[in-house]
Amino acid sequence: MAVAGLGGLGSPASIYLAAAGIGHLTLIDAQRVEPSNLNRQVLHSESDVGQSKLKSATKKLTEIHSNIEVDGIYREITSKNVDRLIKGADVVVDGMDNYPTRYLLNRACVRNRVPFIHGAVEGLVGQLMTILPSRGPCLKCAVPKEPPKKPHFPVLGATPGVIGCLQAMETIKLITGVGKPLVGRMLIFNGTDMTFDEIKVNRDPSCPVCGKHGR
Ligand SMILES: [Zn+2]
Repeated sequence: MAVAGLGGLGSPASIYLAAAGIGHLTLIDAQRVEPSNLNRQVLHSESDVGQSKLKSATKKLTEIHSNIEVDGIYREITSKNVDRLIKGADVVVDGMDNYPTRYLLNRACVRNRVPFIHGAVEGLVGQLMTILPSRGPCLKCAVPKEPPKKPHFPVLGATPGVIGCLQAMETIKLITGVGKPLVGRMLIFNGTDMTFDEIKVNRDPSCPVCGKHGR
């Protein structure tokens, strides 16, 4: 099990995975805790500001379960190292805040046939989709072009709380074989009017990642 990014999404996702008794968690993050993170990145506290997120996350998660094995990887994810970083994971949770890195993870997960739990948030809106390579569309089928870049975007802390929890739920469902995963369906949560909608996503045969010319 790997959680890529220990921010607003990776925090609740990893907390619920640890609390569920996941024995081994690989955490990938190369950032330090900043005061502005604290409204949503619930793995980290005021006293962790300035420390690596990996360090505070490892401390919090092993406090939840002392027998959890945490494998911390202090690395930026790049096209060169992504395959190595996710190697051996049975599921990868998308805790990223940018599309270029998400696309790298998506591609590596498809290539290595590792399930990928995509999540993204902005403001009061979030989205979720489970990617099961060879069984459904990938992230690039769902979002072919990177949405316009915003260097800073506001996030109401509870929004990644909702989506990160659902990512943990999808992960636990996959490893236990319970329920129906969110494959080929993008869930859109809108906290403004408190709605959950679902958009059907088809696999694109010409997708550069999972289509017949991809991989
Ligand atoms: Zn695809």
